[in-house]
Parts: sequence; structure tokens; C-alpha cells
Amino acid sequence: MSRTMVAGNWKMNTTPTQGTALVKEVMNKVPNPPTKVVFGVPAIQLLAVQKLVSGHANYAVAAQNMHQEEKGAYTGETSAEMLVDAGIEYVILGHSERRDYDGEDDELINRKIIRALEAGLKPIYCCGEKLDIREANNQEVVVGKQIEQAFSSLSPEQVAQIVIAYEPVWAIGTGVTASKEQAQGMHDYIRRMIANQFGSEVAKGMTILYGGSVKPDNAEELFAEPDVDGGLVGGASLDAENFAAIIRAIK
Ligand code: PEP
Repeated sequence: MSRTMVAGNWKMNTTPTQGTALVKEVMNKVPNPPTKVVFGVPAIQLLAVQKLVSGHANYAVAAQNMHQEEKGAYTGETSAEMLVDAGIEYVILGHSERRDYDGEDDELINRKIIRALEAGLKPIYCCGEKLDIREANNQEVVVGKQIEQAFSSLSPEQVAQIVIAYEPVWAIGTGVTASKEQAQGMHDYIRRMIANQFGSEVAKGMTILYGGSVKPDNAEELFAEPDVDGGLVGGASLDAENFAAIIRAIK
């Protein structure tokens, strides 16, 4: 089975009206995508976008967050069970913006991953180093620790359900993209780490996305790397033409 995926992370952009139009436009431009395509939409749009993609095997929807508890007095939160009941297949967890602005760490993300998996949701787990770490050439140690904590106590079968998105923080929303060598180097490191801890079969089947200023003009060379299975795309996923071009860059 193919490991490839292109996921868009709209963040807090688009009204429901704009979001519906964007999904329709992308699906019109790429009716038969060569890969799994995931729309990571704001919570208020989950049901409407799920309706639009239902029945299309290669299109799916991701929530951008969920709560770690099953249910209860958590005003304003969304549970894993609610997402599953709404037909949502994926949830983005550990995005650097939630780490920075909401204080999420890998211990909390570990709890969210466990909750998501128990409910039957597939996490798209984001990890990645900040600029000072890259400058000190410590990215493997830091990202290795993030994954180790976030995947703590998980079984190989559980890890096999997870998509990893390597997103160097210095490349997110900055217009600066990791070189294909930098991306491949980290993806290879992550896959070897997964093989050591959870077995080579899990590592071989694992989808590892690159995220950080993916655009139509760099997607093809990034996705051509052997361990780069696609992208998690922020800004460029908000434009149907750009997102369609990135989807088509999967060979
Ligand atoms: C992201 O938000 O996950 C991301 C990669 O953003 P951008 O593509 O805009 O850098």
C-alpha cells in the first residue's frame, strides 16, 4: 500500500462558506488524486467538509486538535469520540503553533495520541526543531526526544496508525524550506528510530510527511526523496491552484 499523503493545514483561516468553496475547487481540479489528500479544517467546518469528501476514497478530513479526556466539563473542547462519530479520520496533534501558543508538550501530546487511537482516530503527529537547535546541529537529538516522549507506552500496532509530520519550526510560515537533503536526512533518521523502537515493518509502512513552506515549485523535488512521503502544507493549501499542484507533485 502506498505511504503517500498530502495534507493541508488551514489553521484559523477560511469561513465555512470559503472552506466549502475551496474544497470543491480542489476536488474539481484533482478528481482522482494520485495520493491520499487530507483537509485539516477549522472545527466549525468539520461536518460540512466531511460531507463533501465522503465517498471519495482518496479524500479525507483532519481536525486540527482534540482534547485528551474522553468527555466532561471542558468548555469549548472537542473529544475524539465526537470526531469519530462525525466521520473524521485524522487529527493533527503536536503542531508547533499549539506547542508555542498553548503550551502543549510531548507528555500532553502522548495522552492525546493514546485517546485518539483508542477512539479510532489516526493522529498526524507533528515534530520538529527550532532554528537554534538546527544551528547547533542538534536536530536529531531534539526530534528523537519529542517522538520518544510522544510515543511512550504505545504498541507497534498503535504506532502503525500514526502519520508523522516532520516540520522544522524555522520553515513553518517563513517561506524558508528545508533543502531536500535536510528533509531526507531527518526522515531517514526518524524512520530508523521507529524501526529500532517499533520494528522494521512498522517503519517501512509509516507515512512521514515534510512540512514547512511547501509550495508548487519545491514540492516535486522534496517528494522525490525516498523517505519523504508527502507534505503537511499550511499557507499553500489555502489556494486551490497551489494545493492541486502540490497534490499532483506526488509521483
Ligand atoms: C504548517 O502549518 O504545518 C505549515 C507547514 O505551514 P506552511 O506550509 O505555511 O509553512
